Amino acid sequence: LRRRTGPMTEELRIGYTADIDRSVPQSQRGSQTASAICGFCSTGCSLDIQSSPEGPLALTPNQSYPVNQGMACPKGWEALTPLFAADRATQPMLRNESGSLVPTDWDQALKHFTARFKEIQTRHGPESLAWIGTGQITVEEFAFLGALGKFGMGIRHGDGNTRQCMATSVAAYKQSFGYDAPPYTYADFELSDTLVFFGANPCIAHPIMWQRVLQNPNRPRIIVVDPRHTETAKEATLSLAIQPKTDLCLLLGLANRLIQRRAIDRSFIEAHVDGFDTFSRFVDDYPLDEVADTCGVPAADIESMVDMIAEGQAVSFWWTMGVNQGHQATRTAQGIINLALITGNMGRPGTGANSITGQCNAMGSRLYSNTTNLIGGHDFANPAHRSKVAEILSIPEFSIPDAPSLAYDQILDGIDSGTIKGLWIIATNTAHSWIHQKRAVDVLKKLDCLVVQDMYASTETAQLADIVLPAAGWGEKEGTFINSERRFGVIRKVKRPPGTAMSDFNILRSVAEYWGCGDQFKEWETPEKAFQVIKRLSKGQPSDISGIEDYRMIETFGGIQWPFPEDLLQSYEASGRSESWRQERQERRLFHDGRFHTTSGRAILHYQEPIAPPEPPDDAYPFLLITGRGTSAQWHTNTRTGKSEVLRSLHPENAYAEIHPEDAKRLGLENRSKMVIQSRRGRVEVIAYVVATVRQGHLFMPMHYRETNQLTYPVFDPHSRQPGYKHCAVSVETSPAS
Ligand code: SF4
Repeated sequence: LRRRTGPMTEELRIGYTADIDRSVPQSQRGSQTASAICGFCSTGCSLDIQSSPEGPLALTPNQSYPVNQGMACPKGWEALTPLFAADRATQPMLRNESGSLVPTDWDQALKHFTARFKEIQTRHGPESLAWIGTGQITVEEFAFLGALGKFGMGIRHGDGNTRQCMATSVAAYKQSFGYDAPPYTYADFELSDTLVFFGANPCIAHPIMWQRVLQNPNRPRIIVVDPRHTETAKEATLSLAIQPKTDLCLLLGLANRLIQRRAIDRSFIEAHVDGFDTFSRFVDDYPLDEVADTCGVPAADIESMVDMIAEGQAVSFWWTMGVNQGHQATRTAQGIINLALITGNMGRPGTGANSITGQCNAMGSRLYSNTTNLIGGHDFANPAHRSKVAEILSIPEFSIPDAPSLAYDQILDGIDSGTIKGLWIIATNTAHSWIHQKRAVDVLKKLDCLVVQDMYASTETAQLADIVLPAAGWGEKEGTFINSERRFGVIRKVKRPPGTAMSDFNILRSVAEYWGCGDQFKEWETPEKAFQVIKRLSKGQPSDISGIEDYRMIETFGGIQWPFPEDLLQSYEASGRSESWRQERQERRLFHDGRFHTTSGRAILHYQEPIAPPEPPDDAYPFLLITGRGTSAQWHTNTRTGKSEVLRSLHPENAYAEIHPEDAKRLGLENRSKMVIQSRRGRVEVIAYVVATVRQGHLFMPMHYRETNQLTYPVFDPHSRQPGYKHCAVSVETSPAS
């Protein structure tokens, strides 16, 4: 992970393969260096990119950046390679009368796009259009897309692929804390004496965060709750391989035992938490033995977990997709938040109820995409918020809806039922990644007009499009990302996009002009000018960044966590812009004063009884399929990581499923033989990986392969509308081809 002196290691070799243009003379290499935050995961590592005038040459992880401290995972080392892929979209394309996508120019493509969307809107009203965005574009692009889509073009509905990863954390934090506010800073990985991971496998999913855990000098106790014995679980002090989707029951049982043992922080609860007495009575119904029975783990292990939490002086609770993707995901996330609150593990170093984000800019999407929240983390239903946003953007207040958009699944339902007829998809691959894939593809085919804006015209979704708009990728544009710990970081342009491809920002500017609302976005001339608008939108919010001057300040600071209001800038000025002032504030956590963002200023305990998952195994489909990340070399649908030979060499080429040795033996399956997996929605052939890391009766499939979502069951958390990818019933048989 880290460039070191001494013998060439496997990790170092990966770094050298990132040197993508060996035809450039050595003497010209490294002539310029620009830093950019990595465009894959939410860790937000800073990468130094060496460039010649002809383009980027190589990259190395930034040694001084507080996040990654000179480290990068394989995806980061290979971040430049996908930019040079042969299947980059280089020209706009239109589908012709014979059904083929043919190249055209921007003028034709944008005329066609805006004419088709206006025609649909005129005929069917504002409810008939929608967009689906992503957690991969910059904050400035989200804000522009959200403002243009809703306030410029009058598109009623927009959502993003962040619905698939972080919607649950958003809903949970908003209800519990009054704002979508992950409280931690990465230093907490190194300051805890006890770390508890729920449904998270940072060892491969967030490898640099895991390195920060390994740097913890306190010899911390690590507890992992995960149905699989994952790479992270293997390193844990205690691993609880619970039955999938019994985590809410476990959390209620843990709270019960902590309360029974008086291992709670009464003074913190009394000062800062609402609802404790009723919560205490509620969890009384979750005695240890019954919880152990439901979760399928020994009661003694649960009691050991209670011991460790009770004894810890600085306990941090972490979660990611194993929690967020479930039929009761929000209440499960709040079960974790409740544990942190009742034990007083909040606002102090090494503590917190900490949701680890997925995509590089999921946090940017949460605050600025103008979908679930009114742009800037505001509330569509709040008249004062609508008035503030209208004034800052110089738009009439009536053009701001008083309710959020439909969620992703509801947009697809709207297309299915015929109310939504035009869809604009930006930098995501619905036809691969959406749960119950076949239905998603069938639904997309019903659209009157599908516009896909992407780096590649080869994605499964782009292949269904009527119009393809070629977009620049990371490294070909400027802007900011916000990482998991709320840190703004800057990405810089080190390469021209191929052909006539444009940055998403410039595509949005062009769409605004062709739609006829360009004047409304005059101030949005460049990403950095748009950043100034975003600052004004943030002012007075818990995520206030009005004290950040510009991109240069973000870079000088080594990234800046929100909030950074104007009074912090004044304090910095008063210090004479001193280096020590800057360093002291490089890692900041929330709620150190115990004040939350609810009306009362107190956190709220939310809870609910567990409900059984909707598709349990039965005689016809006796196995339970869970899904997740495969390796640290793969990103989501492999659209970009699949372009790198180095990364491809680090993971299995074909779809596979992990199966327990006893199940494999019973079914006559050899390791690496082919097997057929079938659910009520699809049938796929994959390679069997016979491993004891999955429990008997379970299968695990990585999400990166097209086959996986042919099987998944479409269930959604009622509060967050996040899909529950991690629980469906399947059958298994040997493949006739094996
Ligand atoms: Fe860091 Fe994530 Fe990029 Fe890997 S993918 S280098 S962990 S930001």
